[in-house]
Amino acid sequence: MSEPERIELLLAELRSRELDRLLVGAGTNLRYLTGFTGSNGLAIVDASEREEHRFFTDFRYDTQSAEQIPAPFEREIAPADLLEAAVRALGAGGGRGRGVGFDDAAMSVKQHERLRELLDDDWELVACGGVVEQLREIKGPREIQAIRAASELADEALRTILQAGLTGRTERAVAIDLELALRRLGAQAPSFPSIVASGEHGALPHAEPRDVTIARDVLVTIDWGAYLDGYCSDCTRTYATGAVSQEAEATYQLVLDAQEAALAALRPGVSGREVDRVARELIEAAGHGERFGHGVGHGVGMDIHEAPRLSRTAPVQPLRAGNVVTVEPGVYLPGRLGVRIEDLAVVRDGGCELLTALPKDLTVVDG
Ligand code: ZN
Ligand code: ZN
Repeated sequence: MSEPERIELLLAELRSRELDRLLVGAGTNLRYLTGFTGSNGLAIVDASEREEHRFFTDFRYDTQSAEQIPAPFEREIAPADLLEAAVRALGAGGGRGRGVGFDDAAMSVKQHERLRELLDDDWELVACGGVVEQLREIKGPREIQAIRAASELADEALRTILQAGLTGRTERAVAIDLELALRRLGAQAPSFPSIVASGEHGALPHAEPRDVTIARDVLVTIDWGAYLDGYCSDCTRTYATGAVSQEAEATYQLVLDAQEAALAALRPGVSGREVDRVARELIEAAGHGERFGHGVGHGVGMDIHEAPRLSRTAPVQPLRAGNVVTVEPGVYLPGRLGVRIEDLAVVRDGGCELLTALPKDLTVVDG
């Protein structure tokens, strides 16, 4: 789907909400709708009959925005305060209450106050957080291809660093090598700071890599992703550095069973809540319900965490074909060990297709 096609879908949504305009500030939503990658930009999407879409940025992005901003937008280079320029463009409300949507999840209270002050009284400000994110939930073929390419690159980067082994290197050294490998293979950046957590540190779901040497005969959890051409990937694998305890093996098998059961349940029509429940019930039945404290997955796209969520508190709306989500149950035993296994999958008619391809049997990494 091209940016102008996305605008068409957005216009239909705004009209169904009886909104006249939508303000979209700098960030992922603006990039999704316009292709603009700069740090300071603001768009007014015009859902009135006139469809006069406007785009504002400052002089630093004159050349860049001339290349990036698609035709339906009229471009204006404004002084740094784009809000003022946007309000000027909106002008008077024309004597009747008309709705201007804004992103209440992204706009600060201070900006909101300022906007209300500057804006003509005829305009009614309407909280619209999530309206663009909702469009972003369904990925088109080009987007899926971009996420697949990021995933393949991330898989390759991990294979590269595993060749050098894990034992005897620090968690931080492995994380740095992994991120270097991602960049050498063409990623613009890691899609988030990599996690390398060994032994008892693996019990921290968001562990930061330490200057601690990875021991023999422990589990090591690695959670990493590539950021490539505007899209993210996300994957977790847990490896053994030798003969691990029976408890570690049993925990690994439990998490793997839960992960595969949740993947088998992933299809259009089931909710993120139901997919979460499939994994959680298995982990609860093994007595580790309290040790799986996070949701089973999240959407991935231009952002590393986006809608839809797969968790106990996720909306009950069914998942749809074209959603790209992670499935990542984990069991964390404080002071002892942790296991998490994460794949990235596209929801397809009747099931799902994996984008991550590394094997999942408990693998011993020597060296
Ligand atoms: Zn992850
Ligand atoms: Zn994840």
